[in-house]
Amino acid sequence: MPGRNFLFVPGPTHLPERVARAMMVPSEDHRSVRFPELTFGLFEGLKRVFGCGEGEVFIYPSTGTGAWEASLANTLSPGDKVLAPRFGHFSHLWIDMMKRLGLQVEVLETEWGGGASEDRIAQALRADKRHEIKGVMVVHNETATGVASDIAGVRRAMDEARHPALLYVDAVSSLGSIDFRFSEWRVDLAVTGSQKGLMLPAGLGIVCASPRALAAETSAALNRVFFSFADMRKANATGYFPYTPSVPLLYGLRESLSMLFDEGLDNVYARHARFAHGVREAVAAWGLAPCCRAPRWYSNTVTAVAVPPRVDAAAIIETAFRRYDLALGAGLGPLAGKVFRIGHLGDLNELMLLGALAGAEMAMLDHGVSLRAGSGVAAAQTAWRRGSVANREREVAALAA
Ligand SMILES: *Cc1c(COP(=O)(O)O)cnc(C)c1O
Repeated sequence: MPGRNFLFVPGPTHLPERVARAMMVPSEDHRSVRFPELTFGLFEGLKRVFGCGEGEVFIYPSTGTGAWEASLANTLSPGDKVLAPRFGHFSHLWIDMMKRLGLQVEVLETEWGGGASEDRIAQALRADKRHEIKGVMVVHNETATGVASDIAGVRRAMDEARHPALLYVDAVSSLGSIDFRFSEWRVDLAVTGSQKGLMLPAGLGIVCASPRALAAETSAALNRVFFSFADMRKANATGYFPYTPSVPLLYGLRESLSMLFDEGLDNVYARHARFAHGVREAVAAWGLAPCCRAPRWYSNTVTAVAVPPRVDAAAIIETAFRRYDLALGAGLGPLAGKVFRIGHLGDLNELMLLGALAGAEMAMLDHGVSLRAGSGVAAAQTAWRRGSVANREREVAALAA
């Protein structure tokens, strides 16, 4: 099709031209004397994005799923008990992995559309008098439902229960788009992949580990070879990797980190909050509702839109793709056919997002959803113009001060 494809799945996200150019490099020796100049900056930059003071970052040639596996395999032993709320496809996949690795998972079943319940976590931890639960596993931003859990709240619940379990957080679709405070929230293991907020192709699995998580490594008996923290730490200490890294992705990462720092992390988070608000205004103007059940859990990076009964969301997604070259996210698991998802994370601006909203409107109209053409677009325009006027006033005030 002529023109650009509108990629609005919640990962992979748009590849900025700056990042694409940075990755166009000839192959080079990853054991050269100059290579550490590249790697040390990446560890520092990633720690800044995680909000990590003390701790270490590991970069695997992998994906978010690999980073999950790394975080588990380096800190837990077969038969260890862990606590995990399940409220969407990704929390489900994580639970499945933990079971397959031989962990005992106490699952807190939660209706999809809600987030991690701090009260139920505290209750389960208080009931665990012998402190058998070794980890609390929470997906920060559940990409399947557009739900962001309150990690600070989960940490408070763990503190109130005076429970020593480690806190594991899947930050795959939040890091680099939604504020994340690894050290302040005392997260022990946080994971991400390269293809979401970091604006790269898939191919890097990234783990941030606290000193407590690193200490757990000595007694952890799950098998690990490729994902061994110890091997990584040894090589990383001198600026190298234990095996061949994806060098172009590392150059891309250096560029995407500087894009985030050039814009300013707080501005990046504010931009995503503003975009998410506009998308929800559009959904309301269509007479539809987000899958997320309560405003406290609204995600700033993805909105899952519930379509009216008897309308097939999968058909809307197919039409959007075939007719308008717009890629929307599918409903996952039990949400298949019931929702379509709009990813609004990474490298994007208002006009790109208006294009996606306009395309979603056309595809919905094509499938008989009763809405007024342009209603969602207009609602988002209004939200963002208001936001931009307020921002400009703030900027003027800051300059005058
Ligand atoms: C995308 C995603 C993953 C999976 O990451 P991969 O890079 O595909 O392995 C895990 N968790 C969440 C919340 C995600 O959005």
